[in-house]
Amino acid sequence: MQLSDKIKQTIRDVRDYPQPGIVFKDITPILSDPQLVNEMITQLKTDLKGLHLDAIAAVEARGFIFGAILAHALNVPFIPIRKAGKLPYKTIQQEYSLEYGTAAIEMHEDALQPGWRVLVHDDVLATGGTAGAAANLVRHAGAELVGFSFIINLSFLPGELNLLHQFGVNPQYLV
Ligand code: 5GP
Repeated sequence: MQLSDKIKQTIRDVRDYPQPGIVFKDITPILSDPQLVNEMITQLKTDLKGLHLDAIAAVEARGFIFGAILAHALNVPFIPIRKAGKLPYKTIQQEYSLEYGTAAIEMHEDALQPGWRVLVHDDVLATGGTAGAAANLVRHAGAELVGFSFIINLSFLPGELNLLHQFGVNPQYLV
């Protein structure tokens, strides 16, 4: 079976979470299958090889899981991006729009070196608002945004196009 089919079969669709009418893609069954995680990391390493990354920045909380495994596998620094108020040291902050209102994420101000080639990773690409805010943090730090990587692209939403138009970078995803 193809890897993408294995991933699709393993993801659990949870209806009406976190709100009525939403079908939530639950990736936790993937994490219970270490063989599948291995195959996914091998695939991601191949997909991202040409980017010559200096660091991977990932968004809490679910982005940390594959973001950290991937950074370890590629032997590059892992940079956590967290909701406002969660990181202990001096931060830079980026606001972004939600369906109702705004949210803010932060990164340590010294986490990236100017000129580093950085990938932004998260588990799911929906509208692209979260990954776009993370990408802005990377750029504000003086680093170069060279890629976006996701496990799942919700293709009925315009996240892929939004990120391409806003950043000139083609998002990659496994399914
Ligand atoms: P966006 O900012 O692209 O609209 O939404 C993506 C963010 O919301 C990601 O941080 C992702 O973790 C979360 N998210 C949105 N929908 C889902 C979903 O169906 N499943 C999971 N696991 N996360 C989701």
